[in-house]
Amino acid sequence: MATPFATVTHVILDLDGTLINTEQLVDEVVSAVLHKRGDFTPSRVRKAMEQVRGMRPGDGTRAVMDILGIRNVSVDEMLGETSALLDARWGEVCMMPGARRLLDHLHAHGVKTALATSTPAAFLKKKMASHDGWVDRLTAVATGDEVENGKPAPDIFALAMKRLGVLDPKTCVVLEDTPVGVTAAKAAGAFAIAIPSIHDDFQSYKNAGADETIASLYDLDPTKWGLPPFTDRVDVTPVSSALSSTVDTAPEQTGVSGTQKLESVLPLDPVVRLGGPVVRGFGRGSKTLGIPTANLDVAPIKKESDLLAPGIYFGWAGLRGDLSSDELERKEDVVVPMVMSIGWNPFFENQRKTVEPWLLKDFGDDGDFYGRELRLAVLGYVRPEANFVSLELLVERIHKDADVARGALTMDSFEGGKNDPYLRFES
Ligand code: ADP
Ligand code: MG
Repeated sequence: MATPFATVTHVILDLDGTLINTEQLVDEVVSAVLHKRGDFTPSRVRKAMEQVRGMRPGDGTRAVMDILGIRNVSVDEMLGETSALLDARWGEVCMMPGARRLLDHLHAHGVKTALATSTPAAFLKKKMASHDGWVDRLTAVATGDEVENGKPAPDIFALAMKRLGVLDPKTCVVLEDTPVGVTAAKAAGAFAIAIPSIHDDFQSYKNAGADETIASLYDLDPTKWGLPPFTDRVDVTPVSSALSSTVDTAPEQTGVSGTQKLESVLPLDPVVRLGGPVVRGFGRGSKTLGIPTANLDVAPIKKESDLLAPGIYFGWAGLRGDLSSDELERKEDVVVPMVMSIGWNPFFENQRKTVEPWLLKDFGDDGDFYGRELRLAVLGYVRPEANFVSLELLVERIHKDADVARGALTMDSFEGGKNDPYLRFES
């Protein structure tokens, strides 16, 4: 089917925050350096940094210093200080969820791709040192030091287009995580898809002229742009059933009614494993929604949780029995289906992910997990987080997500995941 954007043949990619997960590290390092230079509230520093996100390091540093009124130090000095700290830590940086899948897809279909990054070439080498050569598979690379004006000016995208041999900018779609980058892409005449790394301000992406805003790369539909479709999503028949009361088995297919619509899920490759003791959350799951979610503390599993974009997932959960209680009372280890959400929540002045699985079994009187170890094997992605106009619609949607999870977990491709040794506390 023809779409308004079906003329697109080239994809131009931003790097930081779009393909690799540098934004949190940069925020942490830069804010620490800024706080040494003045008595700012954390929210003022965060707002200032968000305004310059996407700019070249020198431009961004200068702009942030202007916004905060820092005059007791030179831009070069500030830049030197942050660069030294960052250089020691680029190895921590992972790819954004869905980035590898997208790059493989574009490469497999011979779609011409360019990187248009504000990062200067010398930094790029250091940043990419721990990433296995995918930059070499791109058709072209344009770096921040090669142009007169950095983003939000269009120069870097114009250079990328020139290197791609593009004559009509409307044959290009740009993927960007910052408003500054979207502004630059639109000024260069390309289409722009925003994948916001500023989670609480989608309006600035609209203002910048984004043609589409998606929650993460998982939600990119290339066919909207006339590009080859992803073929890795799997159709699932939702299984609506009362919560399974049998332990350690997948729910049975009997609940399937003929009218259930097919849903599709995206298998995660590789499977993401994360776990820890169940902690107290906000107490809103069971009270407000009637849906209890066993929260995990994300700080110790930050690396694993960063492998997942905010959204709804399914998989298997292993819950450790309690070892201390007397024999009659003792709870066994169990493995049960689960549906979970990962989302951004304001945590002090920063935003922090929360991981909230709902175990799809009625635990009755045994439903107190606090302090017990919970391990999750996350097998697939269902949908992005969404805002619902009413609590009723939200609850309805979560129940549907649970039905999708149950349905998926009866399929050959996902059922075996319950035998993962990780969930049985064997590793
Ligand atoms: P919190 O905000 O502390 O997470 P919730 O209202 O979300 O509280 O309830 C979650 C708690 O309910 C879990 O930590 C666990 O102790 C208990 N619970 C009982 N049954 C379940 C279940 N099926 N899935 C998840 N948690 C459950
Ligand atoms: Mg909870």
